[in-house]
Amino acid sequence: MGDASPQSRRRFLQTGTLGACGAAIGTAAATTQAQATNGDSPAKVRCDELLPHEFRTRLAERAIAYLPLGTLEWHGEHIALGADAIQSESLMCECARRFGGIVMPPIHLGPDRAKTADDGTMLIGMDYADSTTPPRQLDGSCYWVPPGLHDMIVDAILTQLKRAGFKAVFADGHGPSRWAWVANLAEREARFGLRLFGVTKNISADWKSQVDHAAKNETSLMMHYRPELVDLNRLPESRDVRPQGVGGADPRDASAAFGKECMEESIALVRKLFDDAGLL
Ligand SMILES: [Zn+2]
Repeated sequence: MGDASPQSRRRFLQTGTLGACGAAIGTAAATTQAQATNGDSPAKVRCDELLPHEFRTRLAERAIAYLPLGTLEWHGEHIALGADAIQSESLMCECARRFGGIVMPPIHLGPDRAKTADDGTMLIGMDYADSTTPPRQLDGSCYWVPPGLHDMIVDAILTQLKRAGFKAVFADGHGPSRWAWVANLAEREARFGLRLFGVTKNISADWKSQVDHAAKNETSLMMHYRPELVDLNRLPESRDVRPQGVGGADPRDASAAFGKECMEESIALVRKLFDDAGLL
């Protein structure tokens, strides 16, 4: 912990370990928290934890809201079901510590492809990916909403963020939610009078956060953010056995160090988006 203020010490003791937005993630984060000290609670960037005076201060400094898009979804036998929101929220908390702004609670409902199987079961997302053999309902997934409903939820949140005084919103997480978000950016900017940011085409080739499904990228990010929520021993020992419902490079090659690299590359792109828009 680089920040030795009484608040942060108390907070560290309260959280005990690596919270998604609570205690610092690595030395760099701790340093940034210390640098970001400007008020009562330097480490607090989550909207739900702010007192009104803290909210006013952070909003006046940088009127950017971060909206983590997530799921409760099978991410292999080796990662917690909330991996999507944990990754997007953790990335955004780090952005908020470095650039300012406030992180909203994650949305755990999201769109995805869906179809009805021959036996009448509803299959969603990874239930019928190539790596799921045979196609079947994967345990723990309970996040799906129709695209129209997800749009309505996001619209309602944007209305409230505008009302609260935000000028800009960055949202990301869970592929289908990410794609739905960037597909409507221009129309929503006009409708809500907000600057909106996401993983658009101009940065998607270099974006390194949540770019596979429970494979090397997501597993590494989770090992960096929340190592206690990853158990690689749950994966088949033999490389000849393909992990079920996992898409991308082998998660058995994941590491926390690679996860941190992916986080840093993604944060650099968020900085560029904000910079280009004149927000920093
Ligand atoms: Zn994911």
